[in-house]
Amino acid sequence: MNSSELVGRLKDLLGVDKVLSEVEDLYVYGYDSSITYSGTPLAVVRAYSTEDVVKLLRFAEEHSIPVIPRGAGTSLAGGPIPLNGGIVLDLKAMNKIKVNVDDGVVEAEAGAMVDEVDKECRKYGFMFPIDPASSEVATIGGTLANDGGGMRGARYGTMRNVLLSMEVVLPGGKVLNLGSPVYKQALGYELAQLIAGSEGTLGVITRATLKIVPLPERLGRILAFFNDAEDAARAIFTIRRRGLNPLVLEFMDDITLQAVDSVYKLGIPPAAAAVLADVDGYAESIGRLINMFKNVFVEHNAFKVDVATDPKEMDRIYVARKGAYPALSRLYPVVIIGDICVPLSKLPNIVRAVKDISKKYGITIAAVGHAGDGNLHTFTGISSLSRDEWERAYKANDEIGLVAIELGGSASAEHGIGMQKKHLLKRELEIRSGEHLIELMKDIKKLFDPKGIMNPGKLFD
Ligand SMILES: Cc1cc2nc3c(=O)[nH]c(=O)nc-3n(C[C@H](O)[C@H](O)[C@H](O)COP(=O)(O)OP(=O)(O)OC[C@H]3O[C@@H](n4cnc5c(N)ncnc54)[C@H](O)[C@@H]3O)c2cc1C
Repeated sequence: MNSSELVGRLKDLLGVDKVLSEVEDLYVYGYDSSITYSGTPLAVVRAYSTEDVVKLLRFAEEHSIPVIPRGAGTSLAGGPIPLNGGIVLDLKAMNKIKVNVDDGVVEAEAGAMVDEVDKECRKYGFMFPIDPASSEVATIGGTLANDGGGMRGARYGTMRNVLLSMEVVLPGGKVLNLGSPVYKQALGYELAQLIAGSEGTLGVITRATLKIVPLPERLGRILAFFNDAEDAARAIFTIRRRGLNPLVLEFMDDITLQAVDSVYKLGIPPAAAAVLADVDGYAESIGRLINMFKNVFVEHNAFKVDVATDPKEMDRIYVARKGAYPALSRLYPVVIIGDICVPLSKLPNIVRAVKDISKKYGITIAAVGHAGDGNLHTFTGISSLSRDEWERAYKANDEIGLVAIELGGSASAEHGIGMQKKHLLKRELEIRSGEHLIELMKDIKKLFDPKGIMNPGKLFD
């Protein structure tokens, strides 16, 4: 059967409204937010129900066509790219959300946007704990599939930490309900946790039940500036070492601060780095918490500490961090985004290493991230089409990943492996367990997806 016959059969199966095959649609679905990877799908299917997903996965298995699940396409690692054609499965229309406040959970369909889930929880005095900086558009399914985290990672970790149960459709169309919507469960092999983080290579997540947490009564926000970036990193370490429990704890280096200030005009002073912290609790405790954090920053030579408890001023300060991605992306036509995690005690080492590697390769690298959980994002800028510059940039990015591994950390924290970090994943797993671990992972993939049609070319070749 040729391509147009296959598309015709898909339209018969699902209805013409659910299948896109115009050139301009295929173009748009060929990219993600990494920009560096692209492909052209055979068609795009918009699923409205689990039944649509079942029909598509049966069809794809029968005709051995790859299926690439897609949420909002905010992946920075090439995760939802239709590498060698195939059908992109857009899940955004599956977006129902139901908060069950009595049981402390929210049930959301895969296409529900993270911020929408959070907004629903807030109606009941609760919030959704995981908040990637892309939360305005990123979906629950995509964030689960990448095991994404975010600003509140220092407290709540990543999606796996709040996942209780999920519905997943396997290649061939079999529907599984994994896990249980309760806070404790011991149900043999924990397959929901395996599907989370599997980046669409094992099956399609259609819905999930996730933990929610109470909204704090009061918030305080602190932004501290340092003349030495390692002092800033040491301050983050000290906060965690003393057992303080921030809701948010973020690092921004000098390049990030300048980029943000040039776009948002926040009046940021020249500084080597800044740390942004959110503290939360009862009204009576906020002042005390703020002072404890302020003291740590001053102890580590902060030359300016801004504090806000008024919501408008807190929003203004937050832009310094939330605006980092868009501001840094304006500096260079292409940016490679790194996503490393190191043990908390090694934060100063990795901050220093990023600067050293930047000098070594003669390339600009900004560092910003959720350092309160050890996670740092690096932005390696590429300004031209020069082959030499691209090679230096990729080498520098890889070296940062390898230094993170050497320091006892990981080259991949929350953005997923996708196409971008396949070689780093291989290297990291080999360092930990020789060849065995990656082979075991490939065996698991074969068990779920014998024909290899689920998001091929991602995680490993
Ligand atoms: C400005 C910006 C800021 C970001 N900040 C953060 C951050 O703070 N923290 C963070 O963790 N990430 C961050 N990211 C990365 C990205 O936003 C997250 O990984 C995001 O959660 C992905 O969601 P998505 O809906 O866009 O998924 P997509 O990009 O569409 O897909 C991601 C992966 O999941 C798979 N997938 C999608 N839906 C499903 C499904 N239903 N079933 C199975 N597989 C599926 C895809 O095939 C792909 O491999 C950021 C990205 C941008 C552009």
